[in-house]
Amino acid sequence: MAGMSDIRLQTVVTCPECGHKTAETMPQDACQFFYDCKACGAILKPRPGDCCVFCSYGTVKCPPVQASDGERGSARCA
Ligand SMILES: [Zn+2]
Repeated sequence: MAGMSDIRLQTVVTCPECGHKTAETMPQDACQFFYDCKACGAILKPRPGDCCVFCSYGTVKCPPVQASDGERGSARCA
């Protein structure tokens, strides 16, 4: 059954600079504002309106956003 524990921690971050994809495991109760691409060294920052790089460039939203399940506004992790 889907519930509060239905949070995915595996994500794939895609670098907007070079397109490199990196599999990452997100921390459950925090997320990341900066992320450095392993391939080209670009420092990624969240896009406007997103709380972290996982939300902007990952395949899934960050754990705090998943946990709040669409409650925009409280879905902040910084
Ligand atoms: Zn890159």
